[in-house]
This record gives sequence, structure tokens and C-alpha cells, in this order.
Amino acid sequence: MFGRAPKKSDNTKYYEILGVPKSASQDDLKKAYRKAAIKNHPDKGGDPEKFKELAQAYEVLSDPEKREIYDQYGEDALKEGMGGGGSHVDPFDIFSSFFGPSFGGGGGSSRGRRQRRGEDVIHPLKVSLEDVYNGTSKKLSLSRNVICSKCKGKGSKSGASMRCPGCQGSGMKVTIRQLGPSMIQQMQQPCNECKGTGESINEKDRCPGCKGDKVTQEKKVLEVHVEKGMQHNQKITFPGEADEAPDTVTGDIVFVLQQKDHAKFKRKGDDLFYEHTLSLTQALCGFQFALTHLDNRQLLIKSNPSEVVKPDQFKAINDEGMPMYQRPFMKGKLYIHFTVEFPDSLAPEQCKALEAVLPPRPASQLTDMEIDECEETTMHDVNNIEEEMRRKQAQAAQEAYEEDDEMPGGAQRVQCAQQ
Ligand SMILES: [Zn+2]
Ligand SMILES: [Zn+2]
Repeated sequence: MFGRAPKKSDNTKYYEILGVPKSASQDDLKKAYRKAAIKNHPDKGGDPEKFKELAQAYEVLSDPEKREIYDQYGEDALKEGMGGGGSHVDPFDIFSSFFGPSFGGGGGSSRGRRQRRGEDVIHPLKVSLEDVYNGTSKKLSLSRNVICSKCKGKGSKSGASMRCPGCQGSGMKVTIRQLGPSMIQQMQQPCNECKGTGESINEKDRCPGCKGDKVTQEKKVLEVHVEKGMQHNQKITFPGEADEAPDTVTGDIVFVLQQKDHAKFKRKGDDLFYEHTLSLTQALCGFQFALTHLDNRQLLIKSNPSEVVKPDQFKAINDEGMPMYQRPFMKGKLYIHFTVEFPDSLAPEQCKALEAVLPPRPASQLTDMEIDECEETTMHDVNNIEEEMRRKQAQAAQEAYEEDDEMPGGAQRVQCAQQ
């Protein structure tokens, strides 16, 4: 096997590159390579030369046969083929054997490329209260980019690509703008010629399927299952259904439910609220009505015998609220809020008739004499008491300020108590 007695050459360099002693074990070598390779990976801004050296050193020292030759005769002996053929090491292959192809590419044509993660695509999805009460599925047609099946995302017929001449393969272009006589601005932007990929494909070699774009448009129908009890803003995710791109982990399509308002029902979590107006007679003497639920069932709602419902009263029906998400057999409550409509006026005979049946008025504690001594008053309607109070407060503040100014000169000024 040895053609001639080799002369001794450098046999320490590989150990120095990895930073280990000559006595290093296989484990030490592995650890040293792993640490240095991550640090020097070109994708992380490391020096490609150093990265290559590390791979070379590790390739030799990790092979017991080659290591022995190296220890005895040095680097030259290996170059002359003593280790069983001159080694053409791809540093990225060695790196991948440690870390897998997802980091730093698997060598060959994909060398130096990193797996990016594509962006998620978010779509709002409007749903009615009926949809989330009953559950439904919606078919949605979306168009998205998919890797061209003709060229498998290479963009060319031959699979070859060249460096983009516009950016020398860096994917970025530096533009210089003159801002003034002695001022320039340098800006870095993605290259417009290669859309930031750093590659260019010969016109004749372009894939006819995608015209060199590497991706084609595809119409896709997604069936979105809206489950019972889902909430406003809840997300439904389709993993890996967003736009595909070469060397990219495809992002997700995410639908975000937007629950529309309902004319009759309001939802609060798992409970439903329903507004109902009763006439005064219904409130006093009893009522019944049919409530159409969100699944079109008719619920009979009726008062208890001789019960009076008061204005603004709430009543609740258990298990007629919203179904709970993923436990649809359990439901919240249905609250009914009653408004009572009073008549605007009553004729004297009507009053008489009512007085005959309603509880008697409280006995008047005023004698005629006492009434004579009272002053007459007029009451007017107040339609919105909150607004009237706000107006009053603003007015009072203004007046207090003005009065304060008008205080006679010598008098001690008193702090306004209403402040
Ligand atoms: Zn370019
Ligand atoms: Zn193609």
C-alpha cells in the first residue's frame, strides 16, 4: 500500500484547529467539532474557510485509520492518498451528519441555505350566532402558492441556477443616494432582479411550468368546521396550508372567528340574553309566548299562576344557553329580560275600575286644612335623568367659578365646597 517511505510532515495542525490535545478521545473530538462548527457556520456569519478546515480536521481525526496515518506521517501523507483515496470533504455534509439537514442545508446544491418558516396567513371568518350554537362547516376557496411540480421548486429544467448578476448572489442590493453636495445615503434592499433569492435562471433553462418562479398558483377549497360553542376570536388552524416556497417550512392558515350580532339574542360566554316586552296587563295578569331558539325550536315561556312580573326583571332558564365548546351537551343559561309597557294615560272610569281591584291607595294623612297651607307645584317630565344631572353639574361648576370672581374685595375668599 505504501509506495514509498513518506517523509514526516505537520501532524499537529488538525488538533489545533479543533482545539484539542493529541490525546483527545473520540468524544472530545465530537464535542470540540460540534461547538466550533456551530460558531463558524457561514449561515451564522462564520468564516467559510474556517468552517471547511474544521470539517477537514474532524473528518480525518474521527476516522481511526486516518488519524493513525496523520499522527505518524502528517497531513501530506493523507494528501498523497495513504488514507484510502484523497478525501474531498463537503463540510456541509459533515455538519449535517451532526445536526440534520434542517440546519445549514444538506450539502451539494442546497449548501448554505437555511430553512425559513413561511408566514402564517390569517383570515377573519364571520359566523352567526346560529353557526356557533348549532355548529356548521364552511367551504372556503383560497388561492395559494405551491412548489412547482414540474421542476420541484428549482425553477429550471436542468435544476441548475446561476448567481444573480444584479446582486452577485447575495440577494441584497446597495443603492446610493446623493442627499447633498457632501452627503450620501446608503440603503440595502432586497434585489429586485432575483426577488432576494440571489439566484438567476437562464432564460432558455426556465421551467415552463412556473416560468422560473419555482411556485405556481393553486386554488384550494378548505372546509372549516365551526364547532358548537366556539367563541368570538377563537382560532381554527390549518397547519402547513399557507403559501409554499422553496427551502421554507410552510406556514399555517388561521381562521379567526368573528361572531356577528344577533337581532334577538346576545351572548355572554356560555349564556344567552333575550329581551322581551310585556304589556302591563300581561305583567299583572299573566302571559305566555313562544320563543324561537337559535335551532328553531319553539320554547313555551309562561308566567306562573297569579305571578306579577315587574319592570326590568330577569328570569333564567337552565340549559337553554350556548352549548359549551367540546362539551356540547352542557349548556349555559338563557336569561330573559322583561320590559313592561305602561299605558300613557287612563280615563277616570278606567281608574275607578282599577281602584276597585288593585290594592287601595295609602290613606291620606293630610287634612284639608293642611292642604290649604301647602303651595301649588307643577311637575314636568324628565326623559333622561343622567343627562340632566350632567348638565346641572357643568352649570354649577361654571357658576361657582364666576361667583368666586365676584366676591367683594375685602372678604376672605372661601374655597368652593363643590370642587
Ligand atoms: Zn439578485
Ligand atoms: Zn417549475
